[in-house]
Amino acid sequence: MSDRLPGFSTLAVHAGAQPDPTTGARATPIYQTTSFVFNDADHAASLFGLQAFGNIYTRIGNPTNAVLEERVAALEGGTAALAVASGHAAQVVILQQLLQPGDEFIAARKLYGGSINQFTHAFKSFGWNVVWADPDDISSFERAVTPRTKAIFIESIANPAGSITDIEAISTVARKAGVPLIVDNTLASPYLIRPIDHGADIVVHSLTKFLGGHGNSLGGIIVDAGTFDWSTGGKYPMLSEPRPEYHGIRLQETFGNFAFAIACRVLGLRDLGPALSPFNAFMILTGIETLPLRMQKHCDNAKAVAEFLAGHPAVASVSYAGLPSDKYNQLARKYAPKGAGAVFTFSLKGGYDAGVSLVSKLQLFSHLANVGDTRSLVIHPASTTHSQLDDAAKVKSGAGPDVVRLSVGIEDKEDLIADLEQALSA
Ligand SMILES: *Cc1c(COP(=O)(O)O)cnc(C)c1O
Repeated sequence: MSDRLPGFSTLAVHAGAQPDPTTGARATPIYQTTSFVFNDADHAASLFGLQAFGNIYTRIGNPTNAVLEERVAALEGGTAALAVASGHAAQVVILQQLLQPGDEFIAARKLYGGSINQFTHAFKSFGWNVVWADPDDISSFERAVTPRTKAIFIESIANPAGSITDIEAISTVARKAGVPLIVDNTLASPYLIRPIDHGADIVVHSLTKFLGGHGNSLGGIIVDAGTFDWSTGGKYPMLSEPRPEYHGIRLQETFGNFAFAIACRVLGLRDLGPALSPFNAFMILTGIETLPLRMQKHCDNAKAVAEFLAGHPAVASVSYAGLPSDKYNQLARKYAPKGAGAVFTFSLKGGYDAGVSLVSKLQLFSHLANVGDTRSLVIHPASTTHSQLDDAAKVKSGAGPDVVRLSVGIEDKEDLIADLEQALSA
């Protein structure tokens, strides 16, 4: 073995995996079992007391899921990770470790529509209060900080318009406030942006999108950067105080720079229960092997499609950070030099009706509520994902009535452009 550190594409294929020790199977097996036999009573007791690592029950951990966790932690440059059933489940598990009822977290206003809903409505019933800030105005994050602020949440490449967030600037605000920065890296994937390199303390993904990549399996993952000190000021009792569930151990003291990932597993996943099926973990692992190839093709196609749309007479404007004229192009060059992602929006001169009509005429682009599939996808956010927002909030979050969102797939770009051409001229 050479002492070279493996590159990103090598990690995407190999990190966390080895030939199966009993059968020699080269692909990671699907350990489709609920539970695991203990060696003896002492072994069982030490697993339950967190004195030893090992498998107990698939709600807490599973060997197939463990390969996925190790692989994504390696790709993101974190210390450890925890896979769960969906991106939304990951968000609940993260915030449950950080917030007590009555606490606040600051979130960028430009987010996945489902996250806006989850933060506004579902989390309110837990007593977790979201305070919105504008990712284009860093000082709005500073102004939102109060003594009850426990975290800041942003997307690296933000929904729905594919705008690029200045992660380093917001991480400076988080440091000053003494709270962790959580970055939803779903639209970028670690191939385009590694938020930990720019100051993120926690990275979260919907594995359902580009990491799985084939539109066939839901999943979510939490990556611990190992950078945050949870012991200061008693602000994070789940991590710093003795845990009655585990004979009074303190997670930060016992697990150091991967204490957050452990808390998410043994306090969050164990008790809330959103476990990832090992079958889905297998599907997503298979997807990740080709992430670098797919992501580059997604980006190259998206740029070609954005250029075509920018020159079309029916199109009023295109928001794609990969275009030199775009207001986020500078940030794209800094944070995502390989490509500005494959999800972006454009607006039509014909407004709401033209948006609805375009979506119905496209043939190769599928009209559905997802992103990050091999297939090209289209949606009209104002009538679907963002329909619950009032008109002003729609415009503020980048989902005005005339806006259409694309997730550009890995087909031949000439075919995608021809489909848009026929639908726009029909
Ligand atoms: C889809 C998505 C989520 C939610 O993930 P699910 O796997 O659908 O629960 C969160 N954030 C972003 C950016 C997403 O695209």
